[in-house]
Amino acid sequence: MQIHDLVGIGFGPSNIALAIALDEQRQPGRHLDALFIERQNTFAWHPGMLLDQTHMQISFIKDLATLRNPTSRFSFLNYLHEKQRLADFINLKTFYPSRHEFNDYLAWAAAQFDDYCAYGEDVFEVLPEYSGETVSALRIRSRDANGHVRDRLARHLVVSPGGSANIPEVFKPLHADPRVFHSSRYRDAIDRVPRARRIAVLGAGQSAAEIFLDLQGRTPDMQVDLIMRARAIKPSDDSPFVNEIFNAEFINDVYGASEAERSSMLREFWHTNYACPDLELIQQIFKVLYEQKVSGGTRLRMKRRHEVRGVTADHDGIHLRLTDLHNEQATAERYDAVVLATGYERALHRQLLAPLAPWLGDCSVDRNYQVRSPANFRPAIFLQGACENTHGLSDTLLSVTAVRTGEICDALMEAQRKPWPQAAAPAY
Ligand SMILES: Cc1cc2nc3c(=O)[nH]c(=O)nc-3n(C[C@H](O)[C@H](O)[C@H](O)COP(=O)(O)OP(=O)(O)OC[C@H]3O[C@@H](n4cnc5c(N)ncnc54)[C@H](O)[C@@H]3O)c2cc1C
Repeated sequence: MQIHDLVGIGFGPSNIALAIALDEQRQPGRHLDALFIERQNTFAWHPGMLLDQTHMQISFIKDLATLRNPTSRFSFLNYLHEKQRLADFINLKTFYPSRHEFNDYLAWAAAQFDDYCAYGEDVFEVLPEYSGETVSALRIRSRDANGHVRDRLARHLVVSPGGSANIPEVFKPLHADPRVFHSSRYRDAIDRVPRARRIAVLGAGQSAAEIFLDLQGRTPDMQVDLIMRARAIKPSDDSPFVNEIFNAEFINDVYGASEAERSSMLREFWHTNYACPDLELIQQIFKVLYEQKVSGGTRLRMKRRHEVRGVTADHDGIHLRLTDLHNEQATAERYDAVVLATGYERALHRQLLAPLAPWLGDCSVDRNYQVRSPANFRPAIFLQGACENTHGLSDTLLSVTAVRTGEICDALMEAQRKPWPQAAAPAY
């Protein structure tokens, strides 16, 4: 079986940016053969949340390549140029393109690597391949929609699967109920409950705010409750000094700090990224609620300081047992549908790499995102988007993607240069 130099799990922005970096940092006479495996049938950037009227939360300059290589042909500006919208975009006077447009930019970049991506395959495990006592390669196993399993061998691996839906414990028993769904599936799932008229949205972050606004504008008779533990929806702090934590150089400060300092930094700046919609969005919600007060309506409610402590479902709806955290008073509410805008987990890499745990332990990484491993484990494995604890809050965002992939690329070339056990040695 062919051994790829590199297999990448997922083909979202992180691995597209890596494909670009590999292309641009290619060394003369050394072709690194990379293949990416993507679960979706075609490229789409968080398709469940591709809503109208939503826009990027960071500057378009933090695209797939510019901060690593400002002359890259994969920049957002070159995309605009090729689409003949550069002058029009300038007249928009914004740093924050719509999410639809950024998705189109990412799809444009991804399409240029179609030959290097296997779409429609879900990687489910990574196994060791041996040369004597040494793990010399990796076997990456994926399954397509028809259940066909395919194995591929790789010398190195980059794991970039993004986040997976965080479902609160009380809702887990209802995972098969189409009336309860996570925000990551919102666009399709809401269409599967066309008759829902009483809807609860759980959460206080960007997705919760966007979904609340989307629902309230759908039909005039829709009753929407925004339920949150917080006292108020707080805006993200994107003021310039705070925003410096998203600079690529700041990663050295985070990585070099003690564990205690790192946790304290994460706590201090947590609200720059989590449970913090854009101020503009918060103002829109406030306005909608104010206009409802003027007209005397009650169909939109914000239930602050409320926690869901119990859930049951029957033919009549989803019944939530809510506790008011001010006074511990319990109330019951019935909904036709519940949207869980409850964030994401970043643990997929541990699940995929579980068979390698005897060598990789808890998957701790070095500064170049490479998982630490012993001398008898030859492949280099890199993680993108799962290193927030060691590399800081920018890790799950687009802010450092371009620079990070340059660093991974260099580390990969270095790993490739080390001697290989005979069976896994590259052909060149
Ligand atoms: C709605 C939304 C809006 C956002 N907006 C911004 C923003 O404006 N600015 C910003 O900086 N960040 C934003 N983010 C954060 C987001 O994490 C990054 O923008 C970016 O998507 C990270 O890229 P990624 O490639 O690491 O992960 P993802 O974009 O999640 O891509 C991972 C890919 O891996 C695939 N995959 C997962 N598991 C497997 C598997 N087992 N086998 C094969 N394929 C697999 C997935 O299908 C997916 O295509 C947003 C996140 C969300 C949810």
